This record gives sequence, structure tokens and C-alpha cells, in this order.
Amino acid sequence: MTASPAPSTALDLHKQIQSGQLSAQALLEQTFNAIKAVDGDIDGFLHLAENQAQQTAEQVDQAVATGQPLPLLAGVPIALKDNIHVQGVRSTCASRILENFVAPFDATVTTKLNAHMLPIVGKTNLDEFAMGSSCENSAYKLSKNPWDTSRVPGGSSGGSAAVVASNQVPLALGSDTGGSVRLPAAFCALYGIKPTYGRVSRYGLVAYGSSLDQISPFARTTKDLAALLKVIAGFDPMDSTALSDEVPDYLALCDQPPKQLKVGLVKELMDSDGLQPDIKAAIDQSIQHLEGLGATFQTVSLPHINYAVASYYIVATAEASSNLARYDGVRYGLRAEEAQDIYHLFTQTREQGFGTEVKRRIMLGTFALSSGYYDAYYGKAQKVRQLIRQDFETAFEQVDILLCPAAPFTAFKLGEKVADPVQMYLTDIATIPVNLAGIPGLSFPAGFDSSGLPIGLQLLGPHGAEGTLFSVSQALETASGLSNCLPDVYKQQGVAV
Ligand code: GLN
Repeated sequence: MTASPAPSTALDLHKQIQSGQLSAQALLEQTFNAIKAVDGDIDGFLHLAENQAQQTAEQVDQAVATGQPLPLLAGVPIALKDNIHVQGVRSTCASRILENFVAPFDATVTTKLNAHMLPIVGKTNLDEFAMGSSCENSAYKLSKNPWDTSRVPGGSSGGSAAVVASNQVPLALGSDTGGSVRLPAAFCALYGIKPTYGRVSRYGLVAYGSSLDQISPFARTTKDLAALLKVIAGFDPMDSTALSDEVPDYLALCDQPPKQLKVGLVKELMDSDGLQPDIKAAIDQSIQHLEGLGATFQTVSLPHINYAVASYYIVATAEASSNLARYDGVRYGLRAEEAQDIYHLFTQTREQGFGTEVKRRIMLGTFALSSGYYDAYYGKAQKVRQLIRQDFETAFEQVDILLCPAAPFTAFKLGEKVADPVQMYLTDIATIPVNLAGIPGLSFPAGFDSSGLPIGLQLLGPHGAEGTLFSVSQALETASGLSNCLPDVYKQQGVAV
């Protein structure tokens, strides 16, 4: 057997394009060939955007031909989760209710990707309206984990993770409301970061839980991830929650190894009975790597973290019930044609257009917000959220970052948890608290379990600490060698050049 060549990173590809060694159009053609060859097994894409991507690639090649310097990552193909708008391309949110909905405007991240000339090759599968942990709630298809196609890629941004982990594209965007980028990153041996709430504009992201949602990138190396966040982050007058702080040079920060780093290990997440032993071993390994760099460790407690999942499923569903009220058959997407009056137009459109999980959450959220129950549920969940936020603040008075699992287990079998929503919800126990607190969390590959499935861990920092997370992630990537990981079968295909 011959050793497979190391596939190029996004930054390598960009460098080759800038130097004229590789044309953006040739790379794009290779990408579409790879998608045709591979995606039948993976089912990561819902639809492609060939014409738009081709125009961007031509623009890149023209810029190179006329000697213009290229913006960061120009020419590198990227995939977007199908809840992020690209003008003129469908945004289905993997729902029947938006089956034929064509986005009338670009999301701010899309505008930024266009300004940086990254060809957007297509839109990826997700749990309907980003509600789920396995990508099995899509109305259209089941995406597969490239490391074992009988298993889930994780969710809800499973399609985006699967197309990066099968070497169809080096970069993708997802959205993370309770872990939907960090969990699939962990299940697929990728790097993924949920930035500080407000760091990336949500304008043009279809809203699920507005106080929790963040558009979040996937890549196969820390530096590719840092470069992509640099491209999409920043203030946006179209999003009232966007942060105005200047965006640091995340890429440069990757090369500044952490000094005298104090790391906290979260007691409640380490002691949990449900934690797969291989994951514990991977944590020990990462501790050793960081100790080698002079980091010190201590155990910290987040005493309210065990209430995070319960509080999240009140807050997220309450916000979802309100955000999804707009799909009424009048303004967007599906319309129940047989309805005889306005009442039945609403009810029949929603009955036909939404899947089971979305309906469950709308009912839960509507109940939690209903008069007489509001204080008992929504009000209380908001108080718990505040306590969780304070737990993190107290922890970050003692340590610089926290190290913890991204999920209690590795990728599970397709179908294994669909019958039991509570089991599915508990998958996110380690990721949800991060969204409730609005802090950044980076998921990185930390090894493989005894079945050869990827293990992912998380680094968490205080608000605005993305730079520290990148620097630690890069140090771990160098020490572990877990960089640009791909299953053997996909190394030869895709964008490897
Ligand atoms: N699994 C969580 C949910 O279903 C998180 C989803 C997400 O981050 N979009 O709500």
C-alpha cells in the first residue's frame, strides 16, 4: 500500500492560487468532481450552486492574472449550511415548509465570503431548522459520518461537517445554538469554533434561538479555522447584537504559544458516569501535551451545569416558537392550497410543512411562554441561565481556559437515538452551557476510540478569548499530530492536489 499524500489545507490551496501554481477554476472543477464521486455515499449536500461558484473562481483567476493581491482565503471552495442565505440560491433549512424558498438577499457572512472571493459551492444538510444533534431530523436525507457511514455525523450542522471530513471541501460554515458545530466537529475529527455571542453577524441566518445562535466555522486545521473566523467576524449594523470590538488577527495568534497557561478541568463533566472511558483517556493525553508546554491544571466546579440542558430546552424552544410563527403560508415557502379560510391556511400549512421534532419544540416553547406558565418556566430558565453564566465567570477568575469533552460519547449509529428525544437532548450536555453563557468554545480532534471513531474535546474561554483558544488549539495540534485528519478512503479524492 502506498502512503496517501497529505491533502492540502485551505491556506495551502490559497497560497498556490495566489502564486499562480493552481487556478481557482481548476480547483473548483476538481471540487465538483469530488462531490460527484463522494457525496453519493455521504449525502452532505442538499443542493449545489455551480454558476455562482464558477463566477467567483473566474474573478479570482482574473485578479491573479492582473497581479492583484488576493484577500485571505480567496479561491478556496466552501460549503454553507442550508440555513444561511446566499442570494438567488435556495435556503430550505432542511424543511418542507421552505422547500422552494430562494433567498432574496445575502447573509452578512455570505457578503464577506464574496468579498474574500471564496467560491460557495453549495448548501449542506441539517436537522430541520437546526433542531437536533444527529442530522436525522432533515426532511430530505440522512447524512453519514465519513469515518463510518453507518453512524451519524452529529448535528445539527452534520452536512457541513460530513463534506469537510470526506475531503469534498476544506471549509464549511454551520450554526451553533447548543453545540451544532462543536458536536459534529468532534464526531468527524474536525476543528470547529462557536465564537463569542455577537462576534459573527446573524443577519441572513434563519433564526432558531436568537439569543443562542452563532454562525460557526469548520476546518481540518486550527489555522484554517482561525483564517475563516477572521474572514466572517466583525461588526454589522444589520445585527443589533453584533459586537463592535475589532477582530484580532486570529491567524497570527495561532503562532503565539500559550505562556503560563492555567487550565481548569470541569469537575461535573469529568465525573459523569456517562463519559466514555476512551474520552477520559484522550483528556489525560491532552493534559500531558499541555503540561509539556508549561501549563498548570486545577479542577473547577460549575455547580449549576446540571441544569443547563433543562434550561436550554425552555429558552431555545420558547425563542423557536416565536421565530417560527412567521411560516404561515402567507409570506414564505409552502402554502396549503386547499385551505378554505385564513385559519386553515395557517394550520394546514404548518401541519404539512413542519416535521415532528419542529412541531414538538413549537408546542413546548408555546407552552413555556403561555400566560400563567411564563414565570414558572421561561422566567425560571432565564434565572438558571444567569447562574450558569456566573459559574463560568467565577471559573475564569481562577483559570484562563477550561478543557472538557465535546460530547459524552463518540458518533452513534444512525437510528440509535431517534426514538428517545431526551437521550438525544443529553448528547449536548457539554456544549449547551457555552451557548447559554455566550462564551467561545472550540472543539478539536483529540484521538480515536477503540472502534476507530474520532474523539473531540473542547476548549472554553471567557468572552472574546477566541485568540487564546486558537493558540492553545494550535499547540495541541502540533503536539498530537492530529491535523488535517481524513479517513483513508477519502484522502485520494476531493481537493487533494
Ligand atoms: N442539539 C441542540 C438542539 O437541538 C443544538 C442544536 C444547535 O446547536 N443548532 O437544540
